[in-house]
Formats: sequence, structure tokens, C-alpha cells
Amino acid sequence: MSQAASKPAGLLPVLSDRHVDPHAYPDGVAHLDGQYLPTSQAKVSVLDWGFLHSDATYDTVHVWDGRFFRLDLHLERFFGGLEKLRMTIPFDRDGVAEILHNCVALSGHRAAYVEMLCTRGASPTFSRDPRQAINRFMAFAVPFGSVANAEQLRRGLHVAISDKVRIPPASIDPSIKNYHWLDLVRGLYDAYDRGADTALILDFNGNVAEGPGFNVFCVKAGKLSTPAVGVLPGITRRTVFDLCAEAGLPAVAADVGVAALKTADEVFITSTAGGIMPVTVIDGAPVADGKVGAITERLMRLYWQKHEDPAWSSAVRY
Ligand code: PLP
Repeated sequence: MSQAASKPAGLLPVLSDRHVDPHAYPDGVAHLDGQYLPTSQAKVSVLDWGFLHSDATYDTVHVWDGRFFRLDLHLERFFGGLEKLRMTIPFDRDGVAEILHNCVALSGHRAAYVEMLCTRGASPTFSRDPRQAINRFMAFAVPFGSVANAEQLRRGLHVAISDKVRIPPASIDPSIKNYHWLDLVRGLYDAYDRGADTALILDFNGNVAEGPGFNVFCVKAGKLSTPAVGVLPGITRRTVFDLCAEAGLPAVAADVGVAALKTADEVFITSTAGGIMPVTVIDGAPVADGKVGAITERLMRLYWQKHEDPAWSSAVRY
């Protein structure tokens, strides 16, 4: 089996470990109150409920080589979240798309992480009634970032499974992309304490759920599975299903137990922040032979190829 490191150049994102100025980083452009600003100048009030109560929804799409990837799906999920949270913004989908194009174009980035978000805002009288708050739409484009760095993409991520439980869907509908991340952040600290790169946390039944900013898949005897409930329906997860359908690979959404994950032939995670990323160690033990798996490699290649395909991507209007 060949390893990710031996891939032809250009099939995987090349992430430079460039020196960054912590005061200027990340350099990019934000849209706030009808204005385009450097991200460092786009500031919100401390009274905004997005900040005080995590009362917000958002979506993140990426731009790779000057093209948005599946922007329509990200807009659909964002507008679905707004509706479920009873938030309104003064833009339709085309209006938001135009703002995102402008943020990327003004930033000049060819590879970007592009976020659209809406907070509940604040009430002019500081009332506790969310209906009186004035919702606020914001967006920004910053350099592309990945869950896995260049070395982790090559060798596969080392993941620890935390006993923290993801906030259950009966409390927060996970299809509303949200900033309720304390479970994920606590899981991440568990993982760091155990020497791992990142974490997976559990669902309310003790099965594997998701990690900080990503879904997870395992492959067993050629069949792919990903947790069905209590997780964000990721666009990259959906893309894996679409790629599997094209490639004739069986894939299902179903419960994934901890033991099933640890005894899988291959494991990978999926996120807009990095795409499809291999996992080669779980809780200190190798996944199968500890190398990046053949199906994972194949899907990674297909995933990045689709970034040039007009059916899956659209050019930024620079
Ligand atoms: N799960 C969570 C909790 C996330 O925050 C994210 C992305 O930010 C994902 C999964 C992956 O979703 P997507 O593939 O749409 O980026």
C-alpha cells in the first residue's frame, strides 16, 4: 500500500508552516454592518447574545485554487439554521454569496476559509426577550486552515477517544451549525493530555459521535460507516457519500461503536477545514497496519479532483 507522502504533488493541500505575526494573523477581510474591513477591525459588542449565550449559527465554506467548493450546500445549511433559530438577515442566498465572493476577492486569497454567521444580536433595551434582539449578519475570509497539518496529513492523525458526551440532539438540533463546543474543547484537552493530536467524543448512547470540527468514518471489509445521529451533517461527510456513490463504494450512516472504530481497517475524518484526513492511531494503538488506507487515499484524491469540476465548484469573482 502506498502512503500519502508518495502522492503526486498537487493532489493534497500543501499547508505551509510560514511564520505568522500573532497581531496581524489571520489576515483577511470581514463584512460587518455593510462594510468590508480587515478582520482585526471587525468587532462586535460585548452585549451581543452570540457572545453572551452562544446564540448564533454559522457556516464555513472553503476556497481552493480560486474556487468555492459546494457553496450552494453551505448556503442551504446556513439558511436552514437561520430559519430554525428564527433569525432574519437582510440578504437572500444570492446576497450572501455576493458578500462571500467580495470578502475573498478583497482578501486576494486563492485558498481561503470563508465563514458566514448570524448572531442573535442585542436588544436595544437589554431585554431578555430574544424576539427584541436585532440579529447581526457577518462574514469573513481568512487563509485556508486545516484540522491536520502537513505532517499529520502524511502520517495520519493520532486520535484519542474522550469520554465526554456530545450535546444531545434533543437539546440542540445538530443540523443547526453552532458554537456549542465546550464538550468538544474538553475532549480536545483530554486528547492533548494523552499525547494525541485531536479527539473524538461520544454520543448519548456511548457510540462515537464527532470531533472538534469534523465527522468521522471507518472502513471495514470495503464498507464505509459514519455516525448517524447526534452529529453535524457535515458537507464533507455528504461529499464522501456522493463520492462513494460515484465510485461504487458502499457507505452507510449508522451507529459506530468505540470497539468497531478501533478494529476498523481504515479510519478518516472529514471537515471543510482540511477535507478528508486519515487517522492512523486511536488511543495509542495503530489502526490496522498503522498506514494510511487505500480507500482513504482514493477518496482524498477524488475529493481534491472535484475542486476543479464546475459541477462541484465555482470560480471566485476576483
Ligand atoms: N462536526 C462539527 C461539530 C463541526 O463543527 C464541523 C465543521 O465545522 C463538522 C462536523 C464538519 O462539517 P463540514 O464538513 O460541513 O465542514
